[in-house]
Amino acid sequence: MKSNYGLSIWGSGNFDIEGDTIVVNYANRPSLLDITQEIRNSGYKGPVILRFPHLIKKQIDLLFGEFSRAFEEFEYRGSFNAVFPLKVNQFPNFVNEVVECSREYNYGLEAGSKAELIIAMAKTPIGAPITVNGFKDKEMIALCFIATKSGHNITITIEGLNELKTIIEVHKEFTKSFSDALIPSIGMRIRMHSSGIGVWSKSGGYSSKFGLTSTELLIACDILREEGLLEQFKMIHFHIGSQMEEIGPLKKALREAGNIYADLKKRGAKGLESINIGGGLAVEYSQVAKNHSRNYSIKEFANDVVFLMKEISKNKGVKEPNIYTESGRFIASHHAVLVAPVLELFSQEYNEKSLALKEKNPPLIEELYDLYRSIEKTNAREYLHDAIDHLESLLTLFDLGYIDLEDRSNTEILVNLIIKKAIALLDTKGREDLKQIEDKIQEKYLVNFSIFQSLPDFWGLGQHFPIVPLSHLSKTPTQAAAIWDITCDSDGEIAYNAHAPLKLHDINVEEEEYFLGFFLVGAYQEVLGMKHNLFTHPTEATIRFDKNGDYSIESILEAQNLMDILDDLDYDIGVIDKRLKSNIEESSLSDDEKERLLGKLYLYLSENSYLKTIQASRG
Ligand SMILES: *Cc1c(COP(=O)(O)O)cnc(C)c1O
Repeated sequence: MKSNYGLSIWGSGNFDIEGDTIVVNYANRPSLLDITQEIRNSGYKGPVILRFPHLIKKQIDLLFGEFSRAFEEFEYRGSFNAVFPLKVNQFPNFVNEVVECSREYNYGLEAGSKAELIIAMAKTPIGAPITVNGFKDKEMIALCFIATKSGHNITITIEGLNELKTIIEVHKEFTKSFSDALIPSIGMRIRMHSSGIGVWSKSGGYSSKFGLTSTELLIACDILREEGLLEQFKMIHFHIGSQMEEIGPLKKALREAGNIYADLKKRGAKGLESINIGGGLAVEYSQVAKNHSRNYSIKEFANDVVFLMKEISKNKGVKEPNIYTESGRFIASHHAVLVAPVLELFSQEYNEKSLALKEKNPPLIEELYDLYRSIEKTNAREYLHDAIDHLESLLTLFDLGYIDLEDRSNTEILVNLIIKKAIALLDTKGREDLKQIEDKIQEKYLVNFSIFQSLPDFWGLGQHFPIVPLSHLSKTPTQAAAIWDITCDSDGEIAYNAHAPLKLHDINVEEEEYFLGFFLVGAYQEVLGMKHNLFTHPTEATIRFDKNGDYSIESILEAQNLMDILDDLDYDIGVIDKRLKSNIEESSLSDDEKERLLGKLYLYLSENSYLKTIQASRG
């Protein structure tokens, strides 16, 4: 049975399996393999991140589309606004696309640090919203004032009363030196009683790092009133955590926030007009139906937000708030696919060719060989049990000195081959015993990438990302697979999991290339990625479609070369360069040899640190 790798669960219709390959389900439907090969033919080796701007646009359209539908359906009178939270992905080839493809929506950016604020000020179209969250010092608040004075529509969300005092201080300073009275809008992050669930839920709840308690909210309003700035208080904000797997906690949070909004308005916060519901909209990452990673759709999400805000406003007799969202994962995840070449299969030596049967073999080995040749569907279970039994006996015979290393090698190969054949013939579904045996013969696929750099949330949080090979998809994958990356760290492994099994194809990588696609990696992974072992951000490329549906590969940005990596760590690369050179120059080689050696060295220094040549031309 061929596998569709759970595409119908996590794929959102973005990709499709067609014959042997996985294709982009858009325009002229190019295969990921063709795109990858074209990039590699231009000389780029190692892993590559493919960016698909049409998938950014699709998510933004979905977000605005669903809220606009819900607004109509519930006759909601506020406005819908959204910003992209930069911490999810600040890479320029992504951010530029976000800004370009969303102009019709007045989509803005959210910043959580000074550097992100500068990106937001430089990239957000004038008039589109900017929201600023996170802890802020005086400089950061002053930057927000500069943004306002230069025309931006910016809201500073305060996380604590001290920030409010700083805003007042900066306001006084700016009033002295500038004639206009423009100041940023003020938002208040509320410390929610409700919190999300799941691995990312720490942003909400009473013990959260962020937000003002009810008491502080009241004090903040008093302070603003005294300063004559209460009208500037425009927004309340909450964020209950990323990847909200269930909708329940969001609904609770919406009720809590809705009532706070209504109450503050009744207490005279006349300027208050918006609720910012933060991010948290989840993405389906699962490749197996039973492990779904969210229990709601974007439609249900939009309906719940709009309905609850409508209901609370009606009951409390206040104006319906404008709604802001800061969904990041939902917007960014889909657009990026990491493609990485398989360099090696570790138990490839367990093949028929490696068998070295003798003229005369121990009887049990002869028997294993018979089992291997005559195994078929009807006897597979029995032969499998016999083989495992023989293995035990033969290993005991080896320990006692009755058979030699060559016999032992033949035993291991034959048993491995029999298990593989048996598993392929039998239906492992619901069979725990077979699954356990399968676990034992799992194949290790060495893949030219770093899990620390490219899937840090797998390393840190056990987050699963869909994995699909780019070829052989019309064939049954027979190998229970574990993925090894090329770092020297034993954590750089995606182990085989019998409950969400990854099966790959039995490939001879010396004869043909085999690539794995890691999907939904567009949110958080790139910027959280760490340079463990000095493997850096992989080569990236943007895949754009033209009016005729043809694709072009643009903005290829190669992974950093070796010297740039060291430069980033603040090594003096001039000194390193000199030392490498003088070592060669002072060596006992002939002048001609020195020159050739230097040539080779400089060629390698200009390359990135991913592997190139385990097999000729692979990597
Ligand atoms: C991280 C963050 C977001 C984005 O969350 P997602 O789960 O990626 O949608 C939005 N708002 C704030 C304040 C955040 O800290």
